[in-house]
Amino acid sequence: MSGGPDERDEDRLTTGLIHHPYEPPAGFGAVAPGVFKASTVIFKDVAALRARNWREKTGYTYGLHGTPTTFTLEERIATLEGGLQTLLVPSGLAGIALVNLALLKSGDEVLLPSNAYWPNAELARQELARWGIGHRVYDPMDVAAFAAMLGPQTRLVWVEAAGSITMEFPDLAGLVNACRARGVTVALDNTWGAGIAFAPFEQGVDISMQALTKYPSGGADLLMGSVTTRDEALHQQIKATHMRLGLGVGANDVEFVLRSLPTLALRYAAQDAAGRHLAAWWQGRPEIVRVFHPALEGSPGHVHWAACCSAAAGLFSVEFDPGYGQPQVDAVVDALRRFRIGHSWAGPVSLAAPYDLATLRGQTGRGKLVRFSIGFENIDDLVADCEQALRAL
Ligand SMILES: *Cc1c(COP(=O)(O)O)cnc(C)c1O
Repeated sequence: MSGGPDERDEDRLTTGLIHHPYEPPAGFGAVAPGVFKASTVIFKDVAALRARNWREKTGYTYGLHGTPTTFTLEERIATLEGGLQTLLVPSGLAGIALVNLALLKSGDEVLLPSNAYWPNAELARQELARWGIGHRVYDPMDVAAFAAMLGPQTRLVWVEAAGSITMEFPDLAGLVNACRARGVTVALDNTWGAGIAFAPFEQGVDISMQALTKYPSGGADLLMGSVTTRDEALHQQIKATHMRLGLGVGANDVEFVLRSLPTLALRYAAQDAAGRHLAAWWQGRPEIVRVFHPALEGSPGHVHWAACCSAAAGLFSVEFDPGYGQPQVDAVVDALRRFRIGHSWAGPVSLAAPYDLATLRGQTGRGKLVRFSIGFENIDDLVADCEQALRAL
């Protein structure tokens, strides 16, 4: 095409927009870190491409192996956990799977607490079993029996503090010491503690996994996980598997977590205070036989909680009097207005979900539970909501 002087060369326009010469001035400063998005990372020359090593954080190789944005969040989560190295994964459950796949091989065995996050146990039952990796379930409240279970095949132990749904707080140091004595790696699911309630590595664990989905996000709007260590060799072992599995996280999700981190401790404290207030209210209700909240006296493992924690997640379960059947307990949950029905926690909206002790693996008893997670609503509104919902009985 022969164009006039002010006619653009349409064929070349796209090239010009891609390879545009403008470079913004360096030295921009803002409160929020920049958000870098990449699959491709550009090298200045072939020598630079050849020299870069995906194992090191001194440079960049490929979007999957890290960007300034993901490195920044990794460093901040490592600080939060009191660790030295962190890897990001697409969900908390992916973090559990990553640790298992990095450390276990056919013939090995992993031990899980009887009150484990249910998908962790399901992963062991369905997926690890197919790879010839065994698992057994231990009572997290019986250190002596646990120590006696550790065998020559035991390579990895998962611990949870507090446990899921029934919220027992174990003697973490006791469990860890038993593993130490036999050289068994201990991985903590630290989603409940979030790096706020206690310092995981001071309890002696080797790995701290968190669902960033919960407190670090705080928005109920994204999924992410982290795997933090304090030992370079252990980190490199997990990082190699992380790379081979292709576990990446989206820059926009990382941006949200980075934005939420400065308010993490404030949100944790607020939901803790509201959670304890409401748990104490439930404790005084005649419809209830037990309240599971590790900061409440009489809750299983309260002394172990008090030994290492000053704070607690805004999360608790109540057990209804056995005179009430599942339909009645379900009716209470359905009658809640402020509490919505759903899984997860640490978001702005308070949540409730019913559970049956009889079908929770490893638990004895027949009680019907409701697990509450506290959002940011006014606490008096939440108490009033529970009070009106109980009229459904
Ligand atoms: C939510 C949760 C997970 C998994 O996190 P996702 O991001 O939802 O996969 C793991 N452990 C505990 C204790 C959790 O509460």
